[in-house]
Amino acid sequence: MFNLILFGPPGSGKGTQSERLISKYGLKHLSTGDLLRSEIAGQTPLGMAAKSFMDKGQLVPDEVVIEMISSALDNNPQANGFLFDGFPRTNAQAEALDKLLTQKGTEIAVVLALEVSENELVKRLLNRGLTSGRSDDIDENVIRARYSEYQKKTSAVADYYKNYNKVIHIKGEGDVDGIFESLCKEIDARLAA
Ligand code: ADP
Repeated sequence: MFNLILFGPPGSGKGTQSERLISKYGLKHLSTGDLLRSEIAGQTPLGMAAKSFMDKGQLVPDEVVIEMISSALDNNPQANGFLFDGFPRTNAQAEALDKLLTQKGTEIAVVLALEVSENELVKRLLNRGLTSGRSDDIDENVIRARYSEYQKKTSAVADYYKNYNKVIHIKGEGDVDGIFESLCKEIDARLAA
């Protein structure tokens, strides 16, 4: 199994690059943002509980997303590997993920961290809000709150994986194809190892 984390702040291009990476490498895409939005669309109790946090740009409580990822792993026993997008977002989530993967006899191969400046992120998200139908992309205050949650709680997750020498920083500005090539180069090097 080959499992990777695509890491980075909101708007850094994780969704766009994930789509390309899963099709090239045959990985199962696990995006906690997408999973949560589908729970909301289905009006499930989990979705209803998550919505109030998401609308404010805050992180959903760890136990909710950890449980969701745990089920997703169990529901995909045939996967060649997983691409985690938007997860883990706290150190507690990173520890929980390590445990879940260990139980399955596997681990994270690499964390690819996309780097984009705050101004560029806000610009991209406001622009995405024009067409995405995502209410959290329309209000600049919510966008700034998400960025602040990222800095307060999520950026530390890179240090967690740095301790295991698993983090590679990739410039997330410039053309989409070029960024994709940089990501593929890192993955190919690890698949060949
Ligand atoms: P973005 O990266 O653009 O912020 P996502 O689709 O990944 O978008 O996430 C949208 C929202 O869903 C987040 O602002 C947060 O409220 C919630 N969320 C997604 N993943 C997690 C997670 N791993 N832990 C806690 N909350 C999460």
